[in-house]
Amino acid sequence: MSAIHLDTWRDLPVAQQPAWPDRGELARVVDELKGLPPLVFAGECDQLKQSLAAVARGEAFVLQGGDCAETFAGATAENVRNKLKTLLQMAIVLTYAGRVPVVKIGRVAGQFAKPRSKDTEIRDGVELPAYRGDMVNGFDFTPEARRPDPGRLLRAYHSSAVTLNLARAFTKGGYADLRQVHAWNQDFVAESPAGRRYEKLAREIDQALAFMRACGAEPEEFHTVEFYSSHEALILDYDRALTRIDSRTGLPYDVSAHMVWIGERTRQLNGAHVEFFSKIRNPIGVKLGPTTTPEEAIALIEKLNPDNEPGRLTFISRMGANRVRDALPTLVDKVRASGATVAWICDPMHGNTFEAPSGHKTRRVDDVLDEVAGFFEVHHALGTHPGGVHIEFTGDDVTECVGGGHEIAEEDLALRYETACDPRLNRGQSLDLAFRVAELYRS
Ligand code: PEP
Ligand code: MN
Repeated sequence: MSAIHLDTWRDLPVAQQPAWPDRGELARVVDELKGLPPLVFAGECDQLKQSLAAVARGEAFVLQGGDCAETFAGATAENVRNKLKTLLQMAIVLTYAGRVPVVKIGRVAGQFAKPRSKDTEIRDGVELPAYRGDMVNGFDFTPEARRPDPGRLLRAYHSSAVTLNLARAFTKGGYADLRQVHAWNQDFVAESPAGRRYEKLAREIDQALAFMRACGAEPEEFHTVEFYSSHEALILDYDRALTRIDSRTGLPYDVSAHMVWIGERTRQLNGAHVEFFSKIRNPIGVKLGPTTTPEEAIALIEKLNPDNEPGRLTFISRMGANRVRDALPTLVDKVRASGATVAWICDPMHGNTFEAPSGHKTRRVDDVLDEVAGFFEVHHALGTHPGGVHIEFTGDDVTECVGGGHEIAEEDLALRYETACDPRLNRGQSLDLAFRVAELYRS
């Protein structure tokens, strides 16, 4: 496939791109990006595709999550470790209590760009460009910070490399060994109900492991985990610059992440994002909101997965707790009737955002849990497979979503509200969600 073929998206309307003030600087940055090494290998993307094919067949479950928006400042060992620790704990809960293999995908190492509903933000009568993620501009509300800077695409690449290096070291270098199930929880047990519940499960796992070792079983899978990276491929100049032809197959892969997805605001059938995604061979996702028609979903399948390759396409529904039970069934049913193979996963975050009286963007944990429950009800009723969850969470004890086991009230939001974009579940809330999902999975 020629490189020119990968640029057909340039002739189409492209939503949500920054107004770069200096196109010459952008071109120089893109050239530099094109010469940099891949962050992931095509073979790893294919492996993930195989795992997602198992999800589509009903044999595995996806846990995909991380920050709404990563920041350059957040690429620290402690921050990445805390996120991974929480993700590993959630995955253990799902594997052990839900009895299902879990495909672990981080919203990490590249989740630096945000679509915005408005191009500008007004504060105290001052209007500046909206924050579009660290890949584009700065969070501070000053003209200098908010000016889109192409140099940030390079920083996004390097920050992704650092994060992915840490993630690979943590997951392959002993930290993810099942004998560490207690260690991941150590700083968390005493003070939280979710931590105590987890500790009980970890003790059971210890006993099972001791039994297996006594039997002489010590499989490789107990010592490391497969962990994959993903982000919304929003800024097409960046993802295009990191698209390479795989020497094994001669096919193009976006080597900035294992999986990339198209957001709710950029999934126009005749738009640039769908066109670009149709050319790369990674496993891909598309967010589907409550206004999606079955015809749109099927047209997306025809464009993005015409050969019906298993594991290639994942639909990430984000309907809202109050819509999921009426908006999702027809979509799932019509897609199934079309004969297409897709994995269905549930993003219970983005349909449930509201503004608290304090002005903080927040979500109710109860709504999040209710959307997940609705997602399972819909799939159980249709006999299709509820294939996973996609969440925004952090390993820290932030106060961004209200409710949950350690009841956070709307008045508490200001205590530790640190997100650069949407509100994330904190560690306890994430573990509670995992226990709930495990119950739903087994029921
Ligand atoms: C997101 O995942 O942060 C996001 C913007 O989601 P959506 O495209 O579903 O609105
Ligand atoms: Mn978000």
